[in-house]
Amino acid sequence: RPSPSPARSRPAADHSGSADLCRVRVAVRLRPKNSEDLAHGADFDSCVELQPESKRLKLKKNNWSCESYKFDEVFSESASQKRVYEAVAKPVVESVLEGYNGTVMAYGQTGTGKTYTVGRLGKDDPSERGIMVRALEHILSSLSFETDCVAISYLQLYLESVHDLLAPEKTNIPIVEDAKTGEVSLPGAAIVEVKDLEHVFQLLQIGEANRHAANTKMNTESSRSHAILIIHLQRNTRTKEENGSSLYDVRHDTFPDDLPLVLKSKLLIVDLAGSERIDKSGSEGHMIEEAKFINLSLTSLGKCINALAENSSHVPTRDSKLTRILRDSFGGTARTSLVVTIGPSARHYSETSSTIMFGQRAMKVVNTIKLKEE
Ligand code: ADP
Repeated sequence: RPSPSPARSRPAADHSGSADLCRVRVAVRLRPKNSEDLAHGADFDSCVELQPESKRLKLKKNNWSCESYKFDEVFSESASQKRVYEAVAKPVVESVLEGYNGTVMAYGQTGTGKTYTVGRLGKDDPSERGIMVRALEHILSSLSFETDCVAISYLQLYLESVHDLLAPEKTNIPIVEDAKTGEVSLPGAAIVEVKDLEHVFQLLQIGEANRHAANTKMNTESSRSHAILIIHLQRNTRTKEENGSSLYDVRHDTFPDDLPLVLKSKLLIVDLAGSERIDKSGSEGHMIEEAKFINLSLTSLGKCINALAENSSHVPTRDSKLTRILRDSFGGTARTSLVVTIGPSARHYSETSSTIMFGQRAMKVVNTIKLKEE
């Protein structure tokens, strides 16, 4: 834990309770060709052409048909993990450090780089680190008071059931919504305070091992479940002594100029299940049952995004556990970034096309971000 620095940095945002409108930011990331792509040798044909300067992506259906799409960011196969973090997650993390809630998530077909982008540990090679590690590293280095605190919960959502990846005995964790504020919480989940980067690796490794063990037990693959890291942050904006205790208003736990004494915020980092249509993966028997549930969560996420993009008065967030957990992230009160990951192969044209359309619709969603009311 950092010791309090003499020049304490305070959140710079306007904390007067005003809300900002903020569109969901969407980036697309192209995975490098892999051995499966290359195994197709001369037949290998890329259906994707990137134009990073204009932030556009061209998707070729065939020699005669080609569509062009604009994103907030377009990352080629050579884009570094650092660059992706800085463009996609860093602005959200900065806003979380100022007391707002935030969400970063990865969506795409299995094998296109969601886990690489979000969950790669890179313990021995810092350049490989994904968004989860970088976000925690960034937050840990930004804490300014001894009393500031960062803690994590790490969950897996599989077959509409929430499992704790830090305390595997905890399964079927309920999702609770505060009747007054609408805020979502998972009171049964472990919340572990994070001390330093070494501890981050330890906890994420435990999570990974539990995810693997749970999936082996359930006879499934991690691509079929959603992994959700929740970073809980609590920051003191100043000490009582700094302001003179006579000014401190005990009733409201605030100082006179309405800056809360304690800023509490949450960052969700989500590695979504593979978005591929299930008939492609050859599911049979109970796998079809499983597919229905996985599709339930992702289909319901798609429906919510469509409803929000069209400004519909009804957004069906209660239809699945995933959308209940993400309630605040789309059209809610959090700052949200989405990375959609794609592969280059023309063989997966239709999955790539549907991933891109998902990203395009998400770009139309506008959130109202505001400070959490104490
Ligand atoms: P997903 O989570 O979407 O199923 P993964 O993240 O597991 O996909 O990626 C599949 C494989 O491709 C992994 O071996 C991963 O290391 C590799 N990979 C994905 N994206 C990249 C990238 N941008 N650079 C290098 N390797 C990548």
